[in-house]
This record gives sequence, C-alpha cells and structure tokens, in this order.
Amino acid sequence: PIPVIAIDGPTASGKGTVAHRVADRLGFHYLDSGALYRLTALVALRHETSLKDEHALAKLAAGLPCSFVGEHIYLGKEDVSQAIRREEVGNTASRIAVLPAVRHALVGLQLGFRKPPGLVADGRDMGTVIFPHAQLKVFLTASVAARAERRYKQLIEKGFAANMADLLQDLTERDARDANRSIAPLKPAEGAYLLDTSDMNADEAVSQVLNWYAA
Ligand code: C5P
Repeated sequence: PIPVIAIDGPTASGKGTVAHRVADRLGFHYLDSGALYRLTALVALRHETSLKDEHALAKLAAGLPCSFVGEHIYLGKEDVSQAIRREEVGNTASRIAVLPAVRHALVGLQLGFRKPPGLVADGRDMGTVIFPHAQLKVFLTASVAARAERRYKQLIEKGFAANMADLLQDLTERDARDANRSIAPLKPAEGAYLLDTSDMNADEAVSQVLNWYAA
C-alpha cells in the first residue's frame, strides 16, 4: 500500500512546517487539508454565502476549482496562497468545518492526494477519519502561548497586521470549536504518537517524526 503519515494537531502547533519538511525529506506528496477548508471559506466569503447554509457551502466545497503547484495554491488561475492565510479566512474555515456536508464534500479530494511514493497529510482528522490506516500517526501539540507566538510571527512575516490578545482569543475559540464539534472532533487518533513542540524547534520535531517512521 502507498504509505501515509498523518500529522494532526491544534491551530499553529507547527504541523504545517513539520509535515512539509517530512514530506520533502522522504520525497512524499504533501496534503495541507486545512487549505481546503480555507479555500471553501474564501469562496464563501466572496460569494457572501450564509455560513448557516450547509447545502450551499457543501456545493462550494465539492466544486472547488483548486490546484496545488509546489508551494502555491490556486483557485482557477488566481494564486490565493496569501489570501487564504488571512485570520478572517481561518476563522471562517473553522466555522464551516463543523458542518458534516462540507466535511463530506472534501473527502474525495483529500484521498486523491495519496499517490506513490507516499503522502504526508496535515490537519485535524487525518489519522482519525481520512487516513485511519496511516502507517504513522502523530498528534502535535504545543502550549497556547507557544502557538500564539508562532502564529503572530507567521502573520507578521507575511506582512499582515497581528495583535497578540486577539490571536490568543481566536486560538482558544478555534481549539474549542475543533475539539467540541460533533463530527471529526480534534483528538489524537488511536495509535498516534504525541509530540509536544512547545520547547522544540521544527528540525527537532522533524527528526522525531522521521525516527518514528523509520522504526
Ligand atoms: O490548519 P488550518 O488553520 O489551515 O485549518 C483551518 C481550519 O480548518 C481549522 O481551524 C479547522 O477548523 C479546519 N480543519 C478541519 N479539519 C482538517 C483541517 C482543518 O476541520 N483536517
């Protein structure tokens, strides 16, 4: 079978960076599943779709004209790599991610990323729902303070305005929504290794994941 490494965890736990580097090191494909929820959110915001209209949102998710080219994410011909990173888009993504029809609409797209020689998938439910038979499952965590600081730096680096108090509140709210929703709640998958990266840099976390995979 084509190997899958599932890396899940809360917002700004460092999953993206770690998963991406692990994929590079192994020559595997990389799935940023959060980007799919963000893309759906971006389109919904642009169309002013009501966030209560589950059917309309699921339709948007099912018909996303998205493509992934290296580090870039496209909606049709438009490079939206930057646009989907805005806080408003992340926040909207987390609101529509509680809707079963939206999650369902994105399953096939996610499964399609599993191609030879292998896949590193990053998200909230990679090990629990989408790839329950993954060869390796990792649950990345970090303290709220460490995560808020990382998100702050990321946003500033990308040239966005950021405010620590707002970020802390947003992170806490998003964690609660992800953990308490009735469908695919955020939790470690059965058999997942837990990795607390509060006091770890990305290289150390990558090494740990590669060691687990090699074992
Ligand atoms: O990871 P990222 O911040 O890009 O994800 C945006 C939102 O999408 C998350 O806050 C979460 O609510 C949702 N999400 C999800 N399941 C995934 C990936 C992301 O519910 N597999």
